[in-house]
Amino acid sequence: SGRWARAMAILREFEEKCGTPIGKLRQVADAMTVEMHAGLASEGGSKLKMLISYVDNLPTGDERGLFYALDLGGTNFRVLRVQLGGKEGRVVKQEFTEVSIPPNLMVGTSDELFDYIATELAKFVVTEGEGFHLSPGRQRELGFTFSFPVKQLSINSGTLMTWTKGFSINDAIGQDVVMELTKAMERKGLDMRVAALVNDTIGTLAGGRYFNNDVAAAVILGTGTNAAYVERAQAIPKWHGLVQSEEMVINMEWGNFRSSHLPITEYDQALDADSLNPGDHIFEKIISGMYLGDIVRRVLCRMAEEAAFFGDTVPAKLKIPFILRTPEMSAMHHDSSPDLKVVGNKLKDILGITNTSLKTRKVVVELCNIVAMRGARLAAAGIVGILKKIGKDAVKEGDKQKTVIAMDGGLFEHYSEFSKVLESTLQELLGEEVSSRIVIEHANDGSGIGAALLAASHSQYN
Ligand code: ADP
Ligand code: MG
Repeated sequence: SGRWARAMAILREFEEKCGTPIGKLRQVADAMTVEMHAGLASEGGSKLKMLISYVDNLPTGDERGLFYALDLGGTNFRVLRVQLGGKEGRVVKQEFTEVSIPPNLMVGTSDELFDYIATELAKFVVTEGEGFHLSPGRQRELGFTFSFPVKQLSINSGTLMTWTKGFSINDAIGQDVVMELTKAMERKGLDMRVAALVNDTIGTLAGGRYFNNDVAAAVILGTGTNAAYVERAQAIPKWHGLVQSEEMVINMEWGNFRSSHLPITEYDQALDADSLNPGDHIFEKIISGMYLGDIVRRVLCRMAEEAAFFGDTVPAKLKIPFILRTPEMSAMHHDSSPDLKVVGNKLKDILGITNTSLKTRKVVVELCNIVAMRGARLAAAGIVGILKKIGKDAVKEGDKQKTVIAMDGGLFEHYSEFSKVLESTLQELLGEEVSSRIVIEHANDGSGIGAALLAASHSQYN
């Protein structure tokens, strides 16, 4: 029928605009490398902030004692404690808890957010039991993973530059987030010192390195997306005068990457315009878990409006932003039942669309595939950009060392069609010989351990 043809035309046009042929991916990878250079050359030299983390020595394995970590950066925050036993004992014991952040606190005041965090942290500290030992007379110390763009001032201070991922707390911008947390802990009577402020990418890199010496970079694919890697101090012109170490971990803030080579559609433009940070974090908005489901929703909505894809009336729920979350999209995408039962149920339960035909369901799966594939292939291109920057995108005579990328985040972990395509695209871009030296390693909650390890190496008692 005419309707079906119109719906397919919308789908095909979207597919075409999302196209990521290998040539385009190479351009994206090259652009990433160019922007990395620019961001390292001068402050504000690129959309890529290329932030200096003040982490110039990654964990060695000698770290000892009881340390806490707190991870704030998405819908949940995690609190962790770990007993480190040096080279022999390694991670002797660890415990964690996860708490969701009430949505109203994501757009409230700084004090409200940090009071909530300090309260939950205090509750967790009270449950510290057997197997954890704080040396007598010592203060508890914490590694604070704060996964938003921060202008780091030292290893344990830094000012918030901007919120991302749906957070918007105006009075926190420009504030030192360690100070904000410390004041909240004091208000709640919790005696704890923030020894290290790190991004989740830095935490993942540190945690990854603790277990594997070949880890050179970390990539997060969760609610948002970001990457960090180890750079030679010599290659950081903007870090003038301060160079005391040979290496420095750089927090790329690659979510903010932008390039004319990125395949951007009108749906992405509309999503961006409606977002809390229009014009910013364009790479993140086409790759990460916060947004993928909503891109799918937007295309379905257009198909419903202009081609009566779901019948004569446009399902009302289809107009609600973010009603279709990425985990649901992923569940539909992975549906292997012959009649696509999962797709049918999700459409019914989430969008109130009943009685969908198999043909319709197949289109929904195809749409999920287009959106996920674009994100995964672009993420792979970004990784190749990093490998180019550190000279690991080609085979060098005599260099047998592996290069390991520590990956974390719910999107990478749970969306297997996404991670599968990411890995195969990496091979496609690098070729067989180079990709045999590149290892993608899933660092499961490596960032928590990493932050605790960095707290240990920056302890006031060292
Ligand atoms: P955060 O990025 O908030 O720190 P995570 O790394 O745990 O937290 O990632 C959570 C995100 O991962 C969710 O917001 C969601 O977008 C994505 N995600 C979680 N589960 C799935 C899933 N089953 N399929 C696809 N994406 C998922
Ligand atoms: Mg996280």
